[in-house]
Amino acid sequence: MLVFLCSCGNSSTKAVIQNYPIHYYVMHANTYQNGCIYTTITESGTNIAHFVDYETLQSVPLCNKPNCTHSNESCLSYQCVSTSALPVIYQDQIYWFETDSQIVEEKDGKSTDYQFDTTCYYANLKTGEKKVFVKIPDVSMKDAVEMVIADDILYVIGCDQAYQTENGAWMEISCCGDQYLYAINLKTAEVKNYGLINDAPTAYYNWTLDYAMFFNVQLTGIYQNKLYFSYRYVDKKSDLTDYFSHVDFDDPNWSLADVDASVPWNRINKCLNLKTGEIEISDLPIAEIIGDGDYVYYDGTFCVMDQDGNVARSPGIVRDSYHNQTFVNGKFWKGSQNVCFDPKTGEDIPLAAQYQGKDITVLDLYKGNYIIQYYGENDDNVEYRFESVPEDKLLAA
Ligand SMILES: [Zn+2]
Repeated sequence: MLVFLCSCGNSSTKAVIQNYPIHYYVMHANTYQNGCIYTTITESGTNIAHFVDYETLQSVPLCNKPNCTHSNESCLSYQCVSTSALPVIYQDQIYWFETDSQIVEEKDGKSTDYQFDTTCYYANLKTGEKKVFVKIPDVSMKDAVEMVIADDILYVIGCDQAYQTENGAWMEISCCGDQYLYAINLKTAEVKNYGLINDAPTAYYNWTLDYAMFFNVQLTGIYQNKLYFSYRYVDKKSDLTDYFSHVDFDDPNWSLADVDASVPWNRINKCLNLKTGEIEISDLPIAEIIGDGDYVYYDGTFCVMDQDGNVARSPGIVRDSYHNQTFVNGKFWKGSQNVCFDPKTGEDIPLAAQYQGKDITVLDLYKGNYIIQYYGENDDNVEYRFESVPEDKLLAA
């Protein structure tokens, strides 16, 4: 149960869960200044959202009901993740997206369209009462796994994530299809659609060919007052079908880096200039993540570009299939490779022995300690462990 502590002598409206002023929210690091939201699966097999408080490392369901079983629509921790991938909290309101879809048929029975309707819901964490925040027609947002909030605006990609096969059947695949950048004002509920992002004429090969993948437009964060997002596409169908008809995904040597290297992708990096409101094509390499205002990209090795444009290159960290990389306290963390890169010294620093092999995610820095997350060992159910660790214990001497 989420307990709201009263900050004595201070009747200000300071939020219990404190947002960063500008922040990138992603499923593996849905972080706030004093805690983190994550989803677990209960014994009955349902998803529920938890909040872990960095101060106590206590983890509680996002629910205010005494004696709740957190197993049906009456529970906020259940409903905010029952059909949506990434709930986010802003000023102690939790926001999430639900999307309905239906096939639209003409009089002759032929289907002509596959219609999406998204509703952004919100609930006050104190009351748990669910309300409609705003309706967003024509796109799906329930599968969005990346969002940015800056200056009361939530940025998210909406997808027309269905296509019709030659025999007339409709296919719906998460985060595919035509994709649009949306800005939702969390104060006024004003919604702005900035238009189609993946606009290359052959971008649709990504989701209409067997075995195709990498169809999602990726949001990566805000650098130098620009919101970055990217997508990739191929010019010819065979560029994808040749690769996917030969690749062996079970090969232990296979990784995402292989797809990067073996498919002749065109990569388009775009940004929304937050000063002008215009979408621009960017000359920068596509960002992997943007954190603390630094821009991390991969061009064979990982590079960190600071806010002045200075680039530091990691000596040895390579791209892999794990997504839990983060940028915290000025360092790039790659728990899957038991290492971090410090751009100030140009060194890759191994984790201390006790954190090797745990595939840790470094979530945040809180009161001088790193907050890390990893899976418990020998757990039948997936169970996250959280620790608060000083740097001299987390890194090898
Ligand atoms: Zn509950």
